[in-house]
Amino acid sequence: MSELFVRTLREDPADAEVPSHRWLVRAGYVRRVAPGIYSWLPLGLRVLQKVEQIVREEMNAMGAQEVRFPALLPRDPYEATNRWTEYGPNLFRLADRKGTDLLLGPTHEEMFTLMVKDLYSSYKDLPLSLYQIQTKYRDEARPRAGLLRGREFVMKDSYSFDIDDAGLQASYDAHRATYQRIFERLGLEYVIVSATSGAMGGSASEEFLALAEIGEDTFVRSPGGYAANVEAVQRPLAPAQDAAGVPAAHVEDTPDSPTIESLVALSNERFPRSDRAWEASDTLKNVVFMLVNPDGSRTPLAIGLPGDREVDMKRLEAAVAPAEVEPFGEADFERYPSLVKGYIGPRRPGSDVGVGLDAGGHGVRYLTDPLVVEGTRWITGANQAGHHVYDLVCGRDFASDGVLDVAAIREGDPAPDGSGPLGLARGIEMGHIFQLGRKYAEALGLKVLDPNGKLVTVTMGSYGVGVSRAVAAVAEASCDDKGLCWPRNLAPFDVHIIATGKEQAAADFAAGLAATLDAAGIAVLLDDRKASPGVKFTDAELLGMPTSVVVGRTLAQGFVEVRDRASGDKSEVAADAVAEQLIALLRP
Ligand code: ATP
Ligand code: MG
Repeated sequence: MSELFVRTLREDPADAEVPSHRWLVRAGYVRRVAPGIYSWLPLGLRVLQKVEQIVREEMNAMGAQEVRFPALLPRDPYEATNRWTEYGPNLFRLADRKGTDLLLGPTHEEMFTLMVKDLYSSYKDLPLSLYQIQTKYRDEARPRAGLLRGREFVMKDSYSFDIDDAGLQASYDAHRATYQRIFERLGLEYVIVSATSGAMGGSASEEFLALAEIGEDTFVRSPGGYAANVEAVQRPLAPAQDAAGVPAAHVEDTPDSPTIESLVALSNERFPRSDRAWEASDTLKNVVFMLVNPDGSRTPLAIGLPGDREVDMKRLEAAVAPAEVEPFGEADFERYPSLVKGYIGPRRPGSDVGVGLDAGGHGVRYLTDPLVVEGTRWITGANQAGHHVYDLVCGRDFASDGVLDVAAIREGDPAPDGSGPLGLARGIEMGHIFQLGRKYAEALGLKVLDPNGKLVTVTMGSYGVGVSRAVAAVAEASCDDKGLCWPRNLAPFDVHIIATGKEQAAADFAAGLAATLDAAGIAVLLDDRKASPGVKFTDAELLGMPTSVVVGRTLAQGFVEVRDRASGDKSEVAADAVAEQLIALLRP
């Protein structure tokens, strides 16, 4: 410790939002250089390398081969797949001295595809899985929580190449099994959730989420085994309803009712129903957003959903990607005078106010929730300040331009596959496996000869593990209110030896113990500093080695104290037996 390049901090860094971030900085594992950009100090780097090693061993065991591509890449391949544009502001673009465009790789599908195209030409060369553990760059809109969402981060990315769908499925399954082993070895409690809607085929894409309150991903689970990222949930269309008895739509004066709450209250007061009270779910809320397309153009989008539901921004962002979502601001309302803020409704045939496209495609595109179906009856904006329309029937009085399911999923909503009510929980996305199919191979012309001598396009999978993110996720799952608390297989050192007091005998014994353990292949951190016992104990808890040995006053009686960081257990151990006991514990 007197030589280790580390300084522990007593204060939380100002930008620390989550415990893992706070402790990794305070314990001197990483240092922030700029938002989302971190340096690794010796302790942190040791953990990172251990995670990398686990990932490497498991990838090698499944027969994938390690390669390494540059992070600095030419524009052309990304132009061929349109990702130079589609990646939008998340891509770090730069130019060299000649003005040639380059980028910092956010993920490497293009490069792997081209490399295989360069070298391979026959079905006999396949299947093939290649991987790298390498630094990635993404100009994330919200770098957050230290290593959890960086702008520079370490990823293991792999790519599989197969001749046909069955081959791709086998490569995908092999990756899935490998990922299960990786996340088990990392000691993470995780779930595998579907990341694409059923429409694209059940297992075309799955995510591995580490359970964590502070996770950015919300996922749903049903008792019957359905599990999906909320972004992937597609609620089925509600059954159509018979609206035969519903009176004709009528516009009513509804002053000062721009919110759903005020509208429901006013409706119950002025236009009470005979059967029951009006509820928020009887109203049709129309929300407008501005979509910013990758080429910079802006298109408004209106979404109609029952008034008791909210738009889930992450679901919306996922649904409209690669376009990005911005709020519809005052200036936008000025530019679209047909939208009356607070009183927006579907536009009626022949009218030019409200939302919805006319036959020529003019107007504001209007998509509705799966609950807004044929025959459903609504109170909604009349496109006139202070007015709403009642008994407006979907199909009879208005139509939308399509269905968009981006409403927030609620606890208890039915699972789309009928497997019971959904429960919600949060997690950190640790890995992602994805059947790409032929998209990249087609765009870049990766073809091989099949057994009949015919050229066929190769089918691919792409698979990622967040390696630097895993360091933070493990820290997050294991830390407590005193600091980090590493599982044995990831700790930077196996044992932390603390010599206390001024006695030379204690210092000598501690150094001797360190040497003995070191010779037995145990990684030891020896606190030989001239600091108070209190400082040393606090630091030991902060740094989080799983086992520590305190050599101090009791040495004179022939004892040292062994502490277990996770349980807090302390035990007196005979000084002359402690080395043997630790070796038995750590190298059984
Ligand atoms: P997210 O939804 O968290 O942004 P993603 O869908 O963009 O993730 P992929 O493109 O599938 O992620 O990347 C593979 C893996 O790389 C992810 O599962 C995650 O573990 C990791 N990863 C992605 N973005 C970051 C980041 N900004 N910082 C650290 N790790 C990341
Ligand atoms: Mg991302």
